[in-house]
Amino acid sequence: MRGTHYNPESCVYPGCSAFALTGAQHCWEHLADKAVFVAALREKGLANAWLSCIDLSGMALHGADLRGARLSGACLRNADLRHADLRRAFLDDANLTGADLSGANLELAVLGGAVLTGAKLLNARLCRANLVGASGEGADFSGADLYYSRPGNARFAKALFRGANIQRAIFRRADLRGTDFTDARGEANFENAKMEGVKR
Ligand SMILES: [Zn+2]
Repeated sequence: MRGTHYNPESCVYPGCSAFALTGAQHCWEHLADKAVFVAALREKGLANAWLSCIDLSGMALHGADLRGARLSGACLRNADLRHADLRRAFLDDANLTGADLSGANLELAVLGGAVLTGAKLLNARLCRANLVGASGEGADFSGADLYYSRPGNARFAKALFRGANIQRAIFRRADLRGTDFTDARGEANFENAKMEGVKR
């Protein structure tokens, strides 16, 4: 496939330095028929697609194959991503406010700087995921597998980690005030984390 994550093509808009979306000649900003592009997305296949900065807010992506997709800076507010396959996907600086990622597979995904405020990640697989600097106040990670994940500097106040696997997770300098780790399993690194009011 042309113009994927691994060999993106430049946006044809004069003077634009961004890459074109997979299957289009323009980046999201310069794409004229945004609605048409989004409507056709699921049929095209999204694995390894370059979809940087796309707006898919509220979209039904239940079970979608988004492996290795480049969704950096994308708006996925309130999107339904339940059981989506997001292994190795790039969601850095993406807006996932209120999104439902329950049962999604985010192994090795990059979520650095992503916004997960109020998002649901029940039983999600986040093994080895990069969550550095992510914010997710009130996010629900109950039952999630956070083995060897890296939520350093993350802002997860009032988030829920009930029954989650936090073995080798690195919460260094994270804001975990008022979080709930009831029945969480494993040894995590909480070095210099803000832990006031944490339930364990
Ligand atoms: Zn452009």
